[in-house]
Amino acid sequence: MDIASSALADIVGEANILTGDDIGDRYRIDFLRKHEAAPGVVLRPASTEEVSAILRLAHSEGTPVTVIGGQTGMCGAAMASPGGIGLSLERMNRIEEIDPASMTMTVQAGCVLQVAHEAAEEQGVFLPLDLGARGSAMIGGVIGTNAGGNRVLRWGMMRDMVLGLEVVLADGRIVSSLGKVIKDNAGYNWKHLLIGSEGTLGVVTRAVLRLRPLPTTQQTAIVATGSFEDAIRLLRNLEASLSGRLSSFELLWGDCYGRVVDAQLKQLKRPCPLPKGYGFYIVVEAMGSDREGDDAQFERALAAELDSGLVVDAVLANSDTQRATLWGVRDEMHVGFMNLMPFCNYDVSMAQSVMPTFVSRVREDLAKRYPEAVSYFYGHAGDGNLHAIVNQDPGKPLESLAVDEIVFGVIRELGGSIAAEHGIGTLRRQFLDWTRSDDEVWMMRAIKQALDPKGILNPGKVFEL
Ligand SMILES: Cc1cc2nc3c(=O)[nH]c(=O)nc-3n(C[C@H](O)[C@H](O)[C@H](O)COP(=O)(O)OP(=O)(O)OC[C@H]3O[C@@H](n4cnc5c(N)ncnc54)[C@H](O)[C@@H]3O)c2cc1C
Repeated sequence: MDIASSALADIVGEANILTGDDIGDRYRIDFLRKHEAAPGVVLRPASTEEVSAILRLAHSEGTPVTVIGGQTGMCGAAMASPGGIGLSLERMNRIEEIDPASMTMTVQAGCVLQVAHEAAEEQGVFLPLDLGARGSAMIGGVIGTNAGGNRVLRWGMMRDMVLGLEVVLADGRIVSSLGKVIKDNAGYNWKHLLIGSEGTLGVVTRAVLRLRPLPTTQQTAIVATGSFEDAIRLLRNLEASLSGRLSSFELLWGDCYGRVVDAQLKQLKRPCPLPKGYGFYIVVEAMGSDREGDDAQFERALAAELDSGLVVDAVLANSDTQRATLWGVRDEMHVGFMNLMPFCNYDVSMAQSVMPTFVSRVREDLAKRYPEAVSYFYGHAGDGNLHAIVNQDPGKPLESLAVDEIVFGVIRELGGSIAAEHGIGTLRRQFLDWTRSDDEVWMMRAIKQALDPKGILNPGKVFEL
């Protein structure tokens, strides 16, 4: 790296420059321990102005800069370039304002998602975006990836929650639009370019997030259905019978549920909440504010589905502890797959109607080439988003490229997307044009070229320049 450390020290102070062995794993290795980076230096700025000064320097020297959030992304997007700058905004973690009158939160990008949740709840308001990595993922990371999670069905993805954004562009220019308005059609709404751009177009430093009324009731169940079609019928029924309160609909194929609950019993001593052996399991959750009516409405809705035979078994949480146990099945699914490591994991989206075709086609195509292949499917089925865990032959070296081609080949045929939530990073880069047209990729490159002509921001992510 050509930038003198004295110049960096002038910006962030000696104590906030990490080099060599001081660059701990949390800056170099991701959650799945699949990707490893070797940044030349990690910088921990304390303000937008410091981020701007760092980028001005990096821009003049052509030094790559990668923002490192909570490292919970799944596709290598937060891996700093060899010898480049890793930028951690962990010191920029303040919640600057919660404005219940406008239902907004102004927050710095280094704030951990769960901290933002808790701060909102203390003020009697609600930040709906929720995902299993809530304890590590940062606001900048969930914006950088346009994260989704368990409640997209009702409240949308991160894109739907960002009202205002402050970013630092590659040349150090600070662009700020921290308004609290929901509607703003004054020209291009540029924030949407930045959201989900995986740190390749700018560094998010602050955001104004849209809050919602804090639900005061929560009803959670795991239910089983015999078929996928019944699961989708159930989804449509509950959307209507719960009067728009359905907040989560997380589906697991039966074999996936079995594997996960067995592992969780063994390793976490978590009892299996619903017997194994059914076709499909769904974590269903509703949230609302009618203390008298909501529980009864939820129970009535599920009872009707049990009576009609659409739901074949169900367990309802009757305490917060039980709720945590039920959600534990979904939030800690990785426990079930750890002994399959290394494996390929996918995050794809498609029309709900073709989900069973996707699963059966992937299994058929895998079996043709790899008779020993194992595959498990689950995901945010309410949003048309499935995850797949695939190992073509446990015990043998992973043939990830060939497996990717099989899975993405099916998704392309079915008109879906290779990346529903996790993004492209480096892991999916060569498949970007499998579900994006040449013209779409051309436009992405043109935007990148316009905002970061020297290509210093997170180079090699999304596409090679
Ligand atoms: C157990 C588990 C469950 C998960 N569940 C979900 C889920 O349900 N839905 C979902 O969408 N994702 C999920 N994820 C993936 C992950 O949590 C999200 O992608 C999350 O948004 C990443 O946040 P992070 O702070 O860890 O970002 P990182 O992984 O550190 O970074 C991700 C990308 O964002 C960029 N970035 C980080 N900060 C900034 C910034 N300030 N400005 C610009 N770019 C930035 C990075 O450069 C990188 O490109 C899950 C992950 C785990 C481990």
